[in-house]
Amino acid sequence: MAAVDEVLVGLKDQLGGLRELYRDLHRHPELSMREHRTAQLLEQRLSGLGYAVQRIGGTGVVGVLANGPGPVVLARADIDALPVREATGLDYASTETVQDDSGPVPVMHACGHDMHAAALLGAAALMAGRRSAWSGTYAVLLQPGEEIGAGAQAMLDDGLTTKIPRPDVAVGQHVLPFEAGTIGTTPGPVLSAGDSVKVTVYGKGAHGSMPHNSVDPVVLAASIVLRLQTIVSRETPPGAFAVVTVGALNAGTKSNIIPDRATLLLNLRTYDAALRARVVASIERMVRAECEASGSPREPDIEYYDQFPLTSNDPGTNDQVTRAFVAHFGADRVHHQEPVTASEDFSRIPDAFGIPYAYWTVGGHDAAEYRAAVAAGRVAQDIPANHSPLFAPVIDPTLATMVQTQVVAALAYLAPTS
Ligand code: ZN
Ligand code: ZN
Repeated sequence: MAAVDEVLVGLKDQLGGLRELYRDLHRHPELSMREHRTAQLLEQRLSGLGYAVQRIGGTGVVGVLANGPGPVVLARADIDALPVREATGLDYASTETVQDDSGPVPVMHACGHDMHAAALLGAAALMAGRRSAWSGTYAVLLQPGEEIGAGAQAMLDDGLTTKIPRPDVAVGQHVLPFEAGTIGTTPGPVLSAGDSVKVTVYGKGAHGSMPHNSVDPVVLAASIVLRLQTIVSRETPPGAFAVVTVGALNAGTKSNIIPDRATLLLNLRTYDAALRARVVASIERMVRAECEASGSPREPDIEYYDQFPLTSNDPGTNDQVTRAFVAHFGADRVHHQEPVTASEDFSRIPDAFGIPYAYWTVGGHDAAEYRAAVAAGRVAQDIPANHSPLFAPVIDPTLATMVQTQVVAALAYLAPTS
């Protein structure tokens, strides 16, 4: 029997328990870097399976199963949830809230990280259950704080690269709202690099009736908003991908007061490091020039935060994993994934080890419903996407598919070659 089939023999028996684990995680979501219950639960499960488990980066968990000579595969899942009030109506929907300065904040697994974690636990159990079928080391990494771009860095800052065996390859996956049970892979960029930028520009406050005494930061900020639109429309080659969004613009309190400052929150996405550098340079140039044009009394402040690296698959690794998926699932269930404009901090981990990686996507939406939406041209309207209060991957066949993708990808490296 092929190693994949041998390891997956146990899946049928595991599935009931995994569904329970998924529903439990879904009912008890935790915000980024506060995943205490989740980490403890997953840590205990991994220990019980015989993995050598460590806490790294606070709520990060790594389990290592050394099983003879061979490569080291690092499989990663993220575990954090979002400040979203769940509206799915599911019987296992979250009703959790956490207390913040501003009051109670609802929490929901609106990005499917509960699915990622449950699936990886399933793969970990199956790999541990059939050690005779493979050789090497299987390392399972449960990462906190993906949504704020902080968790991978927190694990690295806590010495991840010195605390576990150096992997030869890393793999990761994300559930997205396309046809459940199907898989998307691509060589090269799969998720964009993302940056948030806080820009504060300064004016001179005055009475609203005496604009000649002011340097009006509202007009200045408005000019910046319009000018920034030309970065994508006029400076970026048609066909190249860049997004510059002004997500927030705040100034002033009252109609008859000209304020002394304005703040803008920008978001940018790119698939290419050189293009990203040019977009950043353009933003800074335009902000400074508009301040100069307005006679601003002070240099603007430009701060970068919530930064996400580019996720770009190594072609060779993607090819090896894709071929294994096609062999296991059949070509009709594996498609080319167009790059997604969302971002991830996963790649920080393989980049820190200096190793290649493959990151793929798995559909989580009811197949018939999805096909009907495609036929009607209503995918954007009818299919709730990640971060929506209505985002609800169907447990079957999504969970079993995501367990299998992890096992198949790992065994693309750890199965005996003879
Ligand atoms: Zn997300
Ligand atoms: Zn996510």
